[in-house]
Formats: sequence, C-alpha cells, structure tokens
Amino acid sequence: LGTPTPPPLLAERRKTRQLMVGRVGVGSDHPVSVQSMTTTLTADVNATLQQIAELTAAGCDIVRVACPSADDALALPAIAAKSQIPVIADIHFQPKYVFAAIEAGCAAVRVNPGNIKKFDDKVAEIARAARDHGTPIRIGVNAGSLDPRLMAKHGRATPEALAESALWEASLFAEHDFHDLKISVKHNDPVVMIRAYEILAEQCDYPLHLGVTEAGPAFQGTIKSAVAFGALLRQGIGDTIRVSLSAPPVEEVKVGTQILQSLNLRPRKLEIVSCPSCGRAQVDVYKLADEVTAGLEGMEVPLRVAVMGCVVNGPGEAREADLGVASGNGKGQIFVKGQVIKTVPEHQIVETLIEEAMRIAEEAGET
Ligand code: SF4
Repeated sequence: LGTPTPPPLLAERRKTRQLMVGRVGVGSDHPVSVQSMTTTLTADVNATLQQIAELTAAGCDIVRVACPSADDALALPAIAAKSQIPVIADIHFQPKYVFAAIEAGCAAVRVNPGNIKKFDDKVAEIARAARDHGTPIRIGVNAGSLDPRLMAKHGRATPEALAESALWEASLFAEHDFHDLKISVKHNDPVVMIRAYEILAEQCDYPLHLGVTEAGPAFQGTIKSAVAFGALLRQGIGDTIRVSLSAPPVEEVKVGTQILQSLNLRPRKLEIVSCPSCGRAQVDVYKLADEVTAGLEGMEVPLRVAVMGCVVNGPGEAREADLGVASGNGKGQIFVKGQVIKTVPEHQIVETLIEEAMRIAEEAGET
C-alpha cells in the first residue's frame, strides 16, 4: 500500500528551540499543540481534575491552572500527579508559588520575571530551580498588564511594545543562562497581536504560544482567534495555541482543534461538507447537516461527509467525499467513495449515512 502522502501544509514551521512540557514536545520539531485553562477554583482538586478530564477528552494537549493563593499552591501536587495531560501553573507576582509549582511536579510555570524582580530579585533562584527540575517557563505578556516603563516609552500597547516587553522578560532569564522558555504576546486586537508575534518571531528562536486575549464570547472569539492564528500559522509561526473564549473551556479546545485541522496541522477527523442551501434545495439542508453532524460526533476515523441539498452540485461534491448524500424529490442518493450505493427515502438519509460511516470506520479498524 505504501506510505500515505502527508497532507499539504501552507508553510514550513519557523525553526525554534525545543522544550518538553511534561511529555508534550513544544517547538518546531513537534506538532502545534492545543491548550486551555481551567475555570474551577484550583484549590478544589476534584472539580479541577474533573474539568481537566473533560478537556483531555475534547483533545486538549496541555492545561493551565491559575494559582493565586496558598490553597491553590497546596492543591498543585495532587493535580499535577493525577492530570492525564501536562499541567502549567499560572502565577503572578508570588515567587513562593513558583517554587511550590516546580516542586509539585507541574510540567511548566507561567510567570513573568519582570513582576518578580520588582518585589524581590528571585529570578536567579527560579532559573536554578526550574533547571534542576527540567521545568520550562512561559513568559506571557498581555496588553492589559504591560510594563509601565514600556507603556511610557511606546504610549500604548503597540506590537513593538509587546515584543520588546517579552524579549526583556526573556533576557532576565537568559542572564542566568536559562533558555527553556516559551513566549506569548497577547492582545485583544488581532491586527496588533499578529504584528507583535511577527516581530517576536524575527527577533528570537523561542517557541511561541499564540493567543488573542479577551477575544470575547464564542462567536466573536472564534473568528478573531481563527483569523489571527491562521495569519501566523500560515507563516509557520506558532507552537502552541489557546483560543480564549468567554465560554466553557471545552469550547476553546474544540475551536483550537478545528483551526489546526483546517490548516492540516492536525489530522482531520470528521469533516462535514454541507452546502449553504439555496432556492434549488429540495431538502432542509440545515436540519440534515445538523442531524448528520450530531449522529457522527466523536467518530475517530477521518471521514469527509458531503450533505448536499439538490442534484445540481450535490452529486459532484458527494462523489469527492468518503461518504455523501445528494438530495432531491424526497429521496437521497447515497454515495460511498464516489459510487452511488443506494437511493433512500428522505427520512432514512441520516440513519443510512450513520450506518455507512460506521461500516467505513469498522473497515478501517477504528471502532
Ligand atoms: Fe443550492 Fe444545490 Fe448548491 Fe445546495 S447543492 S447550494 S441546494 S445548488
């Protein structure tokens, strides 16, 4: 049979340093990974682990947990030990929680050394502890918490200011010969964010974590993130991604996964190719597409399923897919790998597609 041809990519990945976040490799030698962040109180170990399990099931590769209090820090060993995916502790200002997270076995820590330097110069100690435990650090610069010095210099959170801030933060670790870093420069405006990452990508070889911060509710946030990540990934920029939505974090993972699948950066699984419907439609395409999507949700085998509303473009698209239907006159022509295998009454279209999808999956040995 030979090796299947890999799907085409839009760009070579930007060459970066490599690092390991637990068992997940991050950098240009590794696939782009999807991250999210828990919304539970971290100190509530059971609730946090339950949410991490849901994120894992949705395809999340790495999870971040906030650690704003001593109780949260105390919960980290149990969470790091029991989570199915690597856990990053997110810490602001408090060096003692950074040490606790490293000791707890967290796979990485998100902390900005600039924050810590202001209070107490613990950066050297953090670099030493992180090196001793093999714990990478993520530096996360956000427009909303930009260093006042850079705010004064640039007047606002410009792309140049975000990139300069991140490189300055990285230099505080580099001074101590610590380079196991991943960097993000988030802004809620995709245009500013894209430019900031482009500048950063030119000026360093650290892996980059992409995010449009405070991207908004699901609809707006999905679009902003997809556009921004697409513009960067198209240039090979981006090693991990997080879609920030004002919605449950499982939704972030679903959107992030779809973005990567759309760009062939992750194998496509179920893909519904459904038409937008028009005056020629002879079936309720929206309902049919929703029912087929719901019926096939969770299929692990890669499957392209065409749902077409009429016999004009329907048969052509349905033939290109693994499985498809072209509807018309109260009936559906069912296609498998380009061949019409049967014609069924409209009310049997969904069940027939599901049956055929199961059969294809079984033949592929995936059920
Ligand atoms: Fe219209 Fe048919 Fe095209 Fe659907 S497949 S958009 S119904 S022409």
